[in-house]
Amino acid sequence: MNEYDSNRIFDVLKKIGYSKTENISETDCYILNTCHIREKATEKVYHDVGRLKKEFKNRKKPILIVTGCVAQAEGEEMLKRENYIDSVIGPQSYHKISKIIKDIEAKKQKINVTEFDTIEKFDTLNLIKNSNSKVSSFLTIQEGCDKFCNFCVVPYTRGPEYSRTVSEILEEAKVLVENGSKEITLLGQNVNAYLNNKKKLSDLIYTLSKIKGLERIRYTTSHPKDMTDDLIGAHKDIKKLMPILHLPVQTGSTKILKLMNRKHNIEEYYNIIEKLKKFVPNIKFSSDFIIGYPGETDKDFNDTLRLMKKVQFINSYSFVFSARPGTPAAKKNIVKDDISKQRLSNFQELSEKIKINYKKKLLDSSVEVLFENRIDENSFFGRDKFFNSVIVKSNKNLNGKILNVKIKNFNTNTLFGTISDFNEKPFAA
Ligand code: SAM
Ligand code: SF4
Repeated sequence: MNEYDSNRIFDVLKKIGYSKTENISETDCYILNTCHIREKATEKVYHDVGRLKKEFKNRKKPILIVTGCVAQAEGEEMLKRENYIDSVIGPQSYHKISKIIKDIEAKKQKINVTEFDTIEKFDTLNLIKNSNSKVSSFLTIQEGCDKFCNFCVVPYTRGPEYSRTVSEILEEAKVLVENGSKEITLLGQNVNAYLNNKKKLSDLIYTLSKIKGLERIRYTTSHPKDMTDDLIGAHKDIKKLMPILHLPVQTGSTKILKLMNRKHNIEEYYNIIEKLKKFVPNIKFSSDFIIGYPGETDKDFNDTLRLMKKVQFINSYSFVFSARPGTPAAKKNIVKDDISKQRLSNFQELSEKIKINYKKKLLDSSVEVLFENRIDENSFFGRDKFFNSVIVKSNKNLNGKILNVKIKNFNTNTLFGTISDFNEKPFAA
């Protein structure tokens, strides 16, 4: 979502004459768009500011703005601690950035804008074309969260749940497709809680799937509680909806799920997986895991390993529990650091093994790849339907093409192959 937000911040600033630069030393305005989900994010900001100060030592400083969830959470504190920062802008206020920059230039004062103006934000952004021209683009359809899991800062930093209208999303999606997007990933902190004017996520996906030229649709991140039958049915009916679901579970223990305030148990999670597999037999799953949550015993951790083996997630994002100030879990007794780290290492070892076994089975098979970008003169990067990264060599430009690729090799993160349905002789992989 931060990538989407950064692009939209740029769309707003383009209107007042800014352009992007890769060269820090020539910047007039430096924006740090931040994430607050785990600790150390705040320190990273100060570290980056330090780098910038060094770069501009003895020169006129650029305007420095911190946006995103660290800005939302730290606000005034940040402006007080680091005089070099001119403004902090929360994730629901970045549409005001042009005016804020003008105010900084005119009044030379610090500006803290951290209200939850989500409706006004999207009303403003709807008037500014999304200039993203990537083959695979993000599109935010929902923001915020009302679920209040005990470990998570999102409800406090992104604010309450808000869903954009179907018509404004459709308009933005059409612009993205006109710009060259073949794939759109619908984004939301709780994307499957999407609800606007009685239209649910499944309705929205049916509508978007009619856009000519849009070949693939994905959505992330979903909550198990909102994985309703209509959405499960959409996976069966809509061919453009890719057969992979990122469905964070966090733990395999119902006891820990309860302590986390996740609002579902493990049986319910398995039921969703089974229903989806019934409708879409080749569907695959990925997930997020928190290891060493307060109260997690060896038995609870073994339940997580069992879940991993049972579902065979093809990708998993796992982190040791990070106590976030202001959340209920931060007050609980934490699991000893060495125990958490050992469990994380055991978990990741298992998850890698599953990933490698899965990839081994793909050897010599053919996968359908949407090519997104050139990585060097004759290598192209794309993704198969299951979101696996694929690299092939070709002397023709493959960007934006969907082609069958025969898998010849792999490492943990990438599949390597040769094009099997192209009318030219590809280079060897
Ligand atoms: N809304 C989604 C859901 O409910 O699954 C997840 C969104 S959250 C922004 C992304 C991931 O960050 C979570 O799935 C969780 O695994 C991880 N996360 C959030 N807070 C965390 C914490 N305090 N410690 C470790 N990981 C955390
Ligand atoms: Fe955070 Fe997701 Fe829980 Fe909301 S549902 S509080 S975003 S983990």
